[in-house]
Amino acid sequence: AKARGSGLIEVFDDDASHRSLDLLDLRFELAFALERRQLKVQYQPICDLATGELLGFEALARWHHPLRGNVPPGVFIPLAEESGAILEIGAWVLDQACAQLARWQQLPGGAGLRMNVNISPAQLDDRRRAQQLLGTIATYGVDPSDVCLEVTEYNYVRAAATESANELRAAGVRFALDDFGTSYASMSRLKLFPIGTIKIDRGFVAGMVTDAVDRSVVVGVLAIGESLRLSVVAEGVETVQQQQALLGLGCRQAQGYLFAPPLDPDGAEQAVLRGRCG
Ligand code: C2E
Ligand code: CA
Ligand code: CA
Ligand code: CA
Repeated sequence: AKARGSGLIEVFDDDASHRSLDLLDLRFELAFALERRQLKVQYQPICDLATGELLGFEALARWHHPLRGNVPPGVFIPLAEESGAILEIGAWVLDQACAQLARWQQLPGGAGLRMNVNISPAQLDDRRRAQQLLGTIATYGVDPSDVCLEVTEYNYVRAAATESANELRAAGVRFALDDFGTSYASMSRLKLFPIGTIKIDRGFVAGMVTDAVDRSVVVGVLAIGESLRLSVVAEGVETVQQQQALLGLGCRQAQGYLFAPPLDPDGAEQAVLRGRCG
């Protein structure tokens, strides 16, 4: 069994069972993370690759657990998707992001800013719930066309989710296909979803300067973007070499540590006032 005192004292030394119990615990605690105010949102600048001009932000969820410290979204988002907590968490992230965008658009130079928010497919499965996303956007007086929902390439997306996406698109909301190129689902998702932007997965950006295959994928993604008239954003740009290589291939927009990491709202506001990513 498992002893749970004031802290999280665990009397297990078998590694595998320890890990699965640990995830169970985490899922349980995630259910309360929102009401306990342990979640926050950071904002990573989306930049003009050539000039560093600030174009907008991507909202990224953060979970600070009082005992475990920061639990990465790569860990807690999949748990939230399994447990269903993602519905509430995802709605809350959009709410926070729209509140910030409304505020930042009022600042000098902030008028054209846009906000990207990651959403899980489950958030679109129920068409009424999907419509509530529009309600959130309207609450803050944000123009739906300044909001871009980022979807990843899951293998299975319900028909209802595609309908929801088309309804949101009809209301002005934009869609980006995240982590483009990492799965076979990429191409079919492009056909089914009202996608306006594709994001080159940072794995390809990381390799493109040294690896011919990665470079070819980047070239291919940019060609698809061009022929379908989609915007293309390169993710995870960390070096000037990557920036130069991407510019040479005609890429115009990027995110990455070279420009700015995900920022707390105060830091993001400074970027808005400067009009620049770095
Ligand atoms: P993502 O949507 O692909 O987000 C980009 C990830 O790359 C973020 O990781 C960001 O911090 C990281 N990143 C940005 N620039 C660089 C760089 O130059 N180098 C490197 N190595 N990494 C960079 P993060 O914040 O850990 O998020 C991981 C994933 O969790 C996200 O990947 C997204 O799929 C998911 N996620 C985060 N917030 C949410 C949310 O509110 N809802 C949903 N459904 N998923 C979320
Ligand atoms: Ca994303
Ligand atoms: Ca991504
Ligand atoms: Ca990702």
